[in-house]
Amino acid sequence: MSVSFLDLSAAYAEVSAELEAAAQRAMRSGWYIGGPEVTAFETAFAKFCDAKDAIGVANGLEAIEIALHAFEIGAGDEVIVPANTFIATWLAVARRGAVIVPVEPDPETYNITPEAIAEAITPRTRAVIPVHLYGQPADIDGIMRVASERDLIVIEDAAQCHGARCHGARIGSVGHAATWSFYPSKNLGALGDGGAITTNHAEAAARMRLLSNYGSSQKYIHDLPGTNSRLDPLQAAMLSVKLPLLDEWNRRRQAVAAEYLDALAETALVLPKIADWAEPVWHLFVVRHPDRDDLMTALRERGVETLIHYPIPPHRQNAFKDLGFGEGAFPITEQMSQECFSLPMGPHLSTDDTQRVIAALKELLA
Ligand SMILES: *Cc1c(COP(=O)(O)O)cnc(C)c1O
Repeated sequence: MSVSFLDLSAAYAEVSAELEAAAQRAMRSGWYIGGPEVTAFETAFAKFCDAKDAIGVANGLEAIEIALHAFEIGAGDEVIVPANTFIATWLAVARRGAVIVPVEPDPETYNITPEAIAEAITPRTRAVIPVHLYGQPADIDGIMRVASERDLIVIEDAAQCHGARCHGARIGSVGHAATWSFYPSKNLGALGDGGAITTNHAEAAARMRLLSNYGSSQKYIHDLPGTNSRLDPLQAAMLSVKLPLLDEWNRRRQAVAAEYLDALAETALVLPKIADWAEPVWHLFVVRHPDRDDLMTALRERGVETLIHYPIPPHRQNAFKDLGFGEGAFPITEQMSQECFSLPMGPHLSTDDTQRVIAALKELLA
C-alpha cells in the first residue's frame, strides 16, 4: 500500500452528489459568465474571510496582478516579495512592470518578517506582498505596522492559507487586499482554475471588478485598460459546495500535522515551527534534512510520495535570469530549496497512511 501526496479524488468522492447537483444547477441556469452562482460564492467567501468584499477572478496569479493594478502599482515601483515563494508572486509584479525586491524568509517559520521588510524599504517602495506560505500565516499585524509608517500597500498572497488565523483573526481582511487561488490542490480548491481577491477598500474593490472584466461595468464602455479574468460560474458553484466544509477539512489537516509534530519530534528532521499567535491550515507540511534527496528516494521505495516546494527558487529560474541574481544571492532560500521536502498532507489522509509515513521516516532516520 502506498501513500500518495494528496488524493484529490477522495475529496471529490466525499461531496460528489452535492458537486454534481450544483454543476447541474449552474448548467441549467443559462448564466455562463458571471451571474448568481458567482455572486453567491463571492458573498459567502467575503463573509468567511470577515472582509467587506470578494471579487472572483480567473486564478491566483491574476488576482495578485489585478490587486496591484487596482492600487496603481506599476512601472518603476518597488514591490517587496518573499525570495522563497511559488513563482506567481514574482510574476504578478513583473507583469505590472514593477521592480521585484526579494526578501529572505525567517528560517524557522519560512515566512518573511516585519523586520526583514523594514530593511528592504527604499524611497521607491510602494507595496509589499507577504505570502502566507505553506498554510502558516505571516505576521500580518506586524507587517501592517511597518507598512503604514511608510504608506505602503500590502497585498497578502493567501493562495496557500484559506481559513488560517493570525492573532485570532481570519486571514483575508487585514492587508489592503488578499489574493486567493482555487487551484484544485489548494485548501479550498475548485475543479479547475479559479481565484478571488478580498478587500475592505470599497473603491479598490470597484476598480478590481472593472479590471477583471475588460475595465467595463457597462457593455462596450471601458473605463480602465483591464483584462479578462473572471471566476467561472461552474467553478463558483463547485466552490460554494466546498466552502462550508473548509474549516472541517482544515481541522483534519491540523490533526495530521499534530501527529507528525508529535511523532517526529525526536528525529533529525527539522520540523515547521509555529508562532504562538498563528493558527496554520497546513497547505503543506514542509520538513528539512541535509540528506533530503536520499531520504526522498528511500521514502519512495517504501511507497511514500513526497514533493519539494520549491526545488528552484524564483531568482534562479531562467524566467528571471535578466534580474541578474546569481547563486548565493538569497542563501536561506537556496538552502531551503536543497533541504526542504513536503510530507503527504490533506484532509483525506487516513490515520493508517499518516502512521505509515511516520514509521518509514523513523526507520530511515534511526
Ligand atoms: C498557487 C499559488 C498562486 C497562483 O495561483 P494560480 O491559481 O495557480 O494562478 C500564487 N501564489 C501562491 C503562493 C500559490 O501557492
